[in-house]
Amino acid sequence: MAALRAGDLGAKTALITRDEFGGMAANDGPVPVRTLAHASRLMRDARQLGRYGIAVGEPRLDYRRLLERIREVVDEVRENSTFRQLLDDIGVPVYEKCGAGHFVDPHTIETESGLRLSAHNFIICTGGSSRSLSVPGAELTATHSDAWALTAIPPSMIVIGAGATGAQVASVFNAFGSRIQLFQAGPRILPTEDEEVSAVMAAAFRESGIDVREDFGVIESFEKTPDGVRMYFSKDGRRESTEADLAVTAIGWAANTADLDLFHAGVQIDERDFVCVDEFLRTSAPHIFAAGDVTGRMMLVPQAIQQGFVAATNAVHGATMKELDAPAPIGSFTDPEYAQVGLTEAQARANGEVVVARIGFDSTTRTIIDGRTKGFCKLIVDSQTHQILGCHVVGERAVEITQVAAVCMAARMRVDHLAQVPLSFPTYAGVLGIVAAQASRKLNLNVDWQASQFLDQ
Ligand SMILES: Cc1cc2nc3c(=O)[nH]c(=O)nc-3n(C[C@H](O)[C@H](O)[C@H](O)COP(=O)(O)OP(=O)(O)OC[C@H]3O[C@@H](n4cnc5c(N)ncnc54)[C@H](O)[C@@H]3O)c2cc1C
Repeated sequence: MAALRAGDLGAKTALITRDEFGGMAANDGPVPVRTLAHASRLMRDARQLGRYGIAVGEPRLDYRRLLERIREVVDEVRENSTFRQLLDDIGVPVYEKCGAGHFVDPHTIETESGLRLSAHNFIICTGGSSRSLSVPGAELTATHSDAWALTAIPPSMIVIGAGATGAQVASVFNAFGSRIQLFQAGPRILPTEDEEVSAVMAAAFRESGIDVREDFGVIESFEKTPDGVRMYFSKDGRRESTEADLAVTAIGWAANTADLDLFHAGVQIDERDFVCVDEFLRTSAPHIFAAGDVTGRMMLVPQAIQQGFVAATNAVHGATMKELDAPAPIGSFTDPEYAQVGLTEAQARANGEVVVARIGFDSTTRTIIDGRTKGFCKLIVDSQTHQILGCHVVGERAVEITQVAAVCMAARMRVDHLAQVPLSFPTYAGVLGIVAAQASRKLNLNVDWQASQFLDQ
């Protein structure tokens, strides 16, 4: 996006990347993860066929074939990239597989492949990589990238870190038959989610066979075993150990800045190596901007794209555009899914008076039809303005449901106005109409059209 926007604005632009076009999203993050998650859903759905009178055998996974499918999907996504086509159309050259680029001086970069380019302005979009543990034997652990590259499903796996990435690794490989132990140092998994989401997800993971270990203490070391790896950890002076065929760490993200020789360009980084930027995404060197994961802000694809647009606009026109401040839906493709937009219940209650409406997926028509009755949708509404402050969903299509809530929040829609939109029946998104009607009733707001509540209660 940064290169496209700069080119669109008339700047002579080049895009340089160490590896293949597409970055983490296409090659190592959302696209492979979503493909694996889709495969695990297909297996789950296949097991449900008998309940609907369709007779087939037990599904069996051919993991090698699934890996081929991931490669097909990644190639197809990359080949059909709209960005790539638009860059080609406006004549921005893309230098792929150049190896790491680094600054030689404030206006010149050079890559490992020997490419050397000078420019008035630069936009750094080098993303990040998995942070690694610094304990003895840490080299025996893998990251999510190694997990995707396995050629066979490991019989057992230790997953360290239960944020979005760790939860996805645990959920996917659990569905494929690995015995999973999920270790979370803090008191709850998915710590940035609403507390109820964390609790319901932990219960759902446990029910599906994942051994969820919250507040487990600290890791001391890893040791090689004949079949895999042993992890030693301790809490309050008590030492324990556990073993698995593979240990995967998902303990956070570090910026890809080490190779860039940013000191040659006067670009400052913070204590976690993320590039420091101001509200215009300008670094400490005024002609150099940064966008995406490398800034350490909200590390997601839509935000990286928006930042690319802002950084390029400012690089070409001067610092005029600030980052957009819109509600950002966040979700993960675990089973069950979970998603959120806006404030958690605790954050909202700390800020002022709110009304909370909640509906369980065991009482909505579509989830009953589909046999997907686990989960809930919760709406948090400001008691004064009646605007939606947050929406949290666990269950089937949670991520899609929160997109609708995000649009309502971006439009600053009142909850009673949402309750009056005749959302289609029976749909997953329709659950929003029901919780909106419930919240409106709690607020004594007059909702003329309340068919959705009667249909579903
Ligand atoms: C497992 C996983 C699942 C995820 N799922 C989601 C999801 O479902 N939805 C979502 O929105 N986000 C998801 N993310 C996050 C998302 O992938 C990132 O936020 C996004 O890719 C960031 O884009 P970016 O352009 O900043 O960096 P990247 O996509 O990381 O791109 C950086 C590029 O810079 C190149 N590079 C690095 N160093 C250099 C150098 N010195 N010289 C030249 N090139 C260099 C890299 O090769 C890479 O191509 C996920 C991430 C992971 C790890």
